[in-house]
Amino acid sequence: MRSAELMGEVPPAARPPVLCYHRVGGPLELGVTRVAKSVFARQMTTLARAGWKTLTLDQFAERLQPGYSAFRTPHSVFLLTFDDGYASLAEHVYPILADVGFTATTFLITDYVGRLNTWDVRYTWHRLAHLDWDTIGRWQARGFDFASHTASHQRLTWLSDGHAAAELERSRDTLRQRLGLEAARAVAYPFGARDARIERMAIAAGYDLGFGGVHASGSRLALARLPVYLWDVGRVPLGLRGGVVALAGRVAAHLANRCAIGTSWMLELRASGDRT
Ligand SMILES: [Zn+2]
Repeated sequence: MRSAELMGEVPPAARPPVLCYHRVGGPLELGVTRVAKSVFARQMTTLARAGWKTLTLDQFAERLQPGYSAFRTPHSVFLLTFDDGYASLAEHVYPILADVGFTATTFLITDYVGRLNTWDVRYTWHRLAHLDWDTIGRWQARGFDFASHTASHQRLTWLSDGHAAAELERSRDTLRQRLGLEAARAVAYPFGARDARIERMAIAAGYDLGFGGVHASGSRLALARLPVYLWDVGRVPLGLRGGVVALAGRVAAHLANRCAIGTSWMLELRASGDRT
């Protein structure tokens, strides 16, 4: 038995999968973080019809608690997350999710709420707008979750202790003041970059959950998003299932993979989208 199970923690393999997106719809870009609105709508509808359900951040956190039985969780639940908090989410994404009964958690770059994305490499002709506080508040009231993507989207592992701590703390303070304590519990590290030092700082800043890249460490402050085969944790592997569930699994694997590998699956998905 692994140490996590001995400690009564839910082992990482039994945790609900976490999907991660950045942009849906809006202007085309040179980079690969944009998914067309029609593609996104089709993916969500496929998952919903196949019986998949999204978790709120609270429900997800509950499933990480020591002693929580994985058997109480149906295999087909997941946490749907969006990084960077672009304004197009409210236009193209949240309404689609509300239509199919899904919710999502959006990680905000708190210094840039209501501003243009001048923090990023310029992938688009015009700078992109981020969600503003009023819009965020309206969707929070409808059951959507918001959390931290730090204050200004710097790679924390490259920063000094003081600078990294400030990024984590300032963002959490802003969220707590604007949206309440429930929005101040989780952080998604920019670029998925974290290590033991950053995890300690996230705890010291008051975060309870931390989301990184492909690899999980078993800690609540180093949760994975994306692994392609994370979906295949059921008692029956997806490859052995038929029909729409297997299809949903493949869609989900594509979505999950996006954060890890970036370009390759996006190109593949766009190509297959063009064929259908
Ligand atoms: Zn980001």
